[in-house]
Amino acid sequence: MDKRTFLKTAFTGAAGIIAHPFMSKANSWSTVTSENRSGQENFEQAPLPYDYDALEPHIDAKTMEIHYNRHHAGYVNNLNNALKDRQHGSLESIMKSMSSYPVSVRNNGGGHYNHDLFWEIMSPNGGGQPRGDLLSAINRGFGSFEQFRERFSNAASTRFGSGWAWLVVKNGDLIVTSTPNQDNPLMDVVPQEERGTPILGIDVWEHAYYLKYQNRRGDYISAFWNVINWDAVSAKLKQA
Ligand code: MN
Repeated sequence: MDKRTFLKTAFTGAAGIIAHPFMSKANSWSTVTSENRSGQENFEQAPLPYDYDALEPHIDAKTMEIHYNRHHAGYVNNLNNALKDRQHGSLESIMKSMSSYPVSVRNNGGGHYNHDLFWEIMSPNGGGQPRGDLLSAINRGFGSFEQFRERFSNAASTRFGSGWAWLVVKNGDLIVTSTPNQDNPLMDVVPQEERGTPILGIDVWEHAYYLKYQNRRGDYISAFWNVINWDAVSAKLKQA
């Protein structure tokens, strides 16, 4: 924490509004904002929209807590450090012009964007099948929901090492892709044919599943289908 952030945190903390960021409840994340040396607001994590244990038994509470508070928080912190001396646009605009940024922004900016999306497209009331326009687009793109499910699961299970699998809107159609590390389909450093707007993604880094599933990535991918928030995915399709 730099001095400026510390002072803001200390001040707001004294007013009794915020708590320490590493306290145990997910939704108590600090709302303190701070600025970088160019006078721009730093990025920060949105509050997790459910408790750490809300996705049990499919995703365990310990994994959620470490994933949100250590991994995702680490990406945000490193992103702010990487951008501290420069002007920049929104997170999405940074993704789309990633070729003009250093690799630290690619890794940590991607990490921030991807995890924000990941928390949003899961829900304790998730699972089942999509409906409406989303289901129509899936049927058009893949033949059926089952065929889409197989394609997406296959992309996730065959991504070698760390990365993500995605459902992407590309020129109005849906495609399935996967990316290594913290890359995502918005980035202009990703091959053209895999680029588009992601509306669903699964994190297949080992940190996303190792505590509960160890090396059984396939079991984690199967479980993921029980927590997908199709309403959130539908909303992203409308915006894309
Ligand atoms: Mn992750």
